Amino acid sequence: MGKVAYDAVVVGCGIVGAACALELARRGMRVVAVDRGVVGGGATAAGMGHIVVMDDSDAQFALTRYSQQLWHELRLDLPDDVEYEQCGTIWVAADEEEMTEVRRKHDYYRSRGVPTEILDSRLLKELEPNLREGLAGGLLVPQDGVLYPPCAARFLIETAQEQGAKVKIGAEAVQIGRGCVRLSDGAEITAGIIVNAIGAGAPELTAGIEIKKRKGHLVITDRYPGFVGHQLVELGYLKSAHSVSSDSVAFNVQPRRTGQILIGSSRQFGSEGSEVDNSILARMLQRAQEYMPALRSLSAIRVWTGFRAATPDKLPLIGPALGDQSVFLAAGHEGLGITTSLATARLLADHITGAQTQIPIEPYLPSRATKEYVHA
Ligand SMILES: Cc1cc2nc3c(=O)[nH]c(=O)nc-3n(C[C@H](O)[C@H](O)[C@H](O)COP(=O)(O)OP(=O)(O)OC[C@H]3O[C@@H](n4cnc5c(N)ncnc54)[C@H](O)[C@@H]3O)c2cc1C
Repeated sequence: MGKVAYDAVVVGCGIVGAACALELARRGMRVVAVDRGVVGGGATAAGMGHIVVMDDSDAQFALTRYSQQLWHELRLDLPDDVEYEQCGTIWVAADEEEMTEVRRKHDYYRSRGVPTEILDSRLLKELEPNLREGLAGGLLVPQDGVLYPPCAARFLIETAQEQGAKVKIGAEAVQIGRGCVRLSDGAEITAGIIVNAIGAGAPELTAGIEIKKRKGHLVITDRYPGFVGHQLVELGYLKSAHSVSSDSVAFNVQPRRTGQILIGSSRQFGSEGSEVDNSILARMLQRAQEYMPALRSLSAIRVWTGFRAATPDKLPLIGPALGDQSVFLAAGHEGLGITTSLATARLLADHITGAQTQIPIEPYLPSRATKEYVHA
């Protein structure tokens, strides 16, 4: 391959890179997206596909809500294999202390235009009969949904191709900067804009950013249609997802359109191998069975692991990298990259083209992270 000029090279065809390629191509740019593996084969293939509004911070809320709405707008265009379902989330409260959190979350969401419903113990059991007796209640967020991430990434890339984007699979970037992407076979691609969208590997191509791998395990069962109706997440999940040091597990189950049930989830730092860790898997399943005892009688057909790309402040890096005007980041989405891919791409493309962004981009700009580290 000789030197070809493009307006933008997107490195990485996970769901985030795929969304960026599409958004930039839509703005009329000559785009090429490259990936060393296959489309949607990284964290995207490992993810749960929960499209969820979260409120760890106002910035996280803004990005997840914006993106959830973009998925909703796109739903009629999504092919069947993306399996998009607006099944809603129920945040399950085990006790009265967690019901206080249910009420806080309800007020926070409703005051920002997200419909929610507080469920008491009886209503919760009516909606999800396989949950154990004695849970205090929950919060239903009906506009949340689920989808099958690898097919969603493929759909975004194919739509980008329809808009004129080129895609190169099996192309590993070894260096990016100054308007040039160098591939492992020595080929170079030049472009005024380079988007680093390689997820957890992003620091390998862009020095000075802090992203750590956070390992997760998931289990999928055989088909049991109707066993679960909503994505169910324990409110204790918030505590475990917040913990940045220790290994944690939380009850988190998802109904798939196939009738299968996806069971999560775990979080581990410092475990870089992709092998299944039986002790954390056992803890995760134990936790799931505490909430849903009948899970014990189902057959699991597959277990896998994946790596979330975690930043210190739990917000992704979206926008110009420091020190090189041609490089932009779209990485570090931790456990929310499926949800936030579409909003990430919109924000980045708006920023690059000088258009008005729908939500402020500042909380996600890579420059904020550098400032934090300097003062840390
Ligand atoms: C267990 C688990 C559960 C999750 N559940 C959810 C969920 O329910 N909801 C949600 O919103 N998110 C969830 N996530 C997070 C979500 O999966 C990720 O945030 C998202 O997939 C990140 O997408 P990405 O495109 O940034 O990265 P990736 O999907 O990792 O894509 C990066 C791509 O870059 C390519 N690449 C890497 N290096 C190079 C290179 N040098 N040159 C060229 N290409 C390269 C890789 O091959 C890969 O295709 C979960 C994650 C895990 C691990």
